Amino acid sequence: MGAPHPETWLEVRPEGLWCRPGGFHVDPLRPVPLAVVSHGHSDHARPGHGRVLATAETLAIMAARLGEGAAGAERHALGYGEAVQLGEVTVWLAPAGHVLGSAQVAMEWRGARVVYSGDYKRVADPTCAPFTPVACDVFITEATFGLPVFRHPDPLEEIGKLLHSVAVFPERCHVIGAYALGKAQRLIALLRQAGWDRPIYLHGALQALCDLYVRHGVDLGELRPATAGEKGQARKDLMGQIVIAPPGAIADRWARRLPDPVVCLASGWMRVKQRAKQRGVELPLVISDHADWGELLATVDEVGAPEIWITHGREEALAHAATARGVRARALALVGYEEEAS
Ligand SMILES: [Zn+2]
Ligand SMILES: [Zn+2]
Repeated sequence: MGAPHPETWLEVRPEGLWCRPGGFHVDPLRPVPLAVVSHGHSDHARPGHGRVLATAETLAIMAARLGEGAAGAERHALGYGEAVQLGEVTVWLAPAGHVLGSAQVAMEWRGARVVYSGDYKRVADPTCAPFTPVACDVFITEATFGLPVFRHPDPLEEIGKLLHSVAVFPERCHVIGAYALGKAQRLIALLRQAGWDRPIYLHGALQALCDLYVRHGVDLGELRPATAGEKGQARKDLMGQIVIAPPGAIADRWARRLPDPVVCLASGWMRVKQRAKQRGVELPLVISDHADWGELLATVDEVGAPEIWITHGREEALAHAATARGVRARALALVGYEEEAS
């Protein structure tokens, strides 16, 4: 007799993905007694759970963003590869390469292994551990960029475009919209890799998470606040400099303090020219923390699962491509996971 099919022990409930023999939820959308959390983005790491199991980095991010009181009444840090028994299920985490501390969740019960990817990417990122493919019977994958049109360019090429623009417009300030967790720090690390050794200026909303990354050993070089000058005057000293701010701030009143800003936005969605235009972005940077179409397919091939379940994103195209490769595919249609931070 073979292992019970994972369909019989993992189910989608209103509060999220539920593992029955383990008595826990994975990335639950509502407060639950026991949650395994893949990473710190707010759509996956929600407040108010009883016990939370995650990497130490994710727990620290949750405490920083949600406050100690809401980040889980009881917290258990789990290192990558360290197994724990939850009910009848063996659970362990593997790096997902998405943001600091991000993890895939491996669940083993009665001879079957299911791996929940969370959000992930496959390109090198100096701010987090690289994605490790784990062989499994069912691979539960995201599909944020699950359309053939999405091919992310080399991130250093995008950084090259930015540095070229900085060189061409020395009297202007470059302000880059980047999500506060992951994208901002990766952008800074990529700029350092490309040789930009001047101070990088930060919107106040990015400071705490940058500090957290530095405390966890990620070198970001010299960071300075991009606060308003005397009596809210424009910051002339920011001419020729690079400022990083949350996406919501770049086209906002906040950016008016910057000298003749070149508005940039770092996101996988910048592949879609219309989106850049809508947001008033002069210099779109296609830098994403999610797998593109090629990475999704390569990952499905590498994990070798005979079956994939797709949590959120463009399910249809990925399901179709998987089926054409002889892999069974099923859309879980989990609602509540957002396109943020992509
Ligand atoms: Zn995420
Ligand atoms: Zn997500």
